[in-house]
Amino acid sequence: MTGAATSTMTAPAPSAVLFKAACPDCRGRFELASQELRLAIGRTHRTTFYSFTCPECGLAVRKPAGERIIELLTGGGVRTMRLHIC
Ligand SMILES: [Zn+2]
Repeated sequence: MTGAATSTMTAPAPSAVLFKAACPDCRGRFELASQELRLAIGRTHRTTFYSFTCPECGLAVRKPAGERIIELLTGGGVRTMRLHIC
């Protein structure tokens, strides 16, 4: 399955996208809708992360976001904050 640029995909439904996530604290596994996730893009990888609140235990989870994850999240309609210096 390498990069043929065919456009045979059906139209995506961004509002219906669910992202699988897991909580490092209670080890719950769940699916989150795009509006339950936040993505913060900083100037470096260390300040680029996504966050969500665990629906099981309420923990605020923050995880580093690589380029692949950023693409997935932004493509799925996750709210993105760009952390630029003013
Ligand atoms: Zn949890």
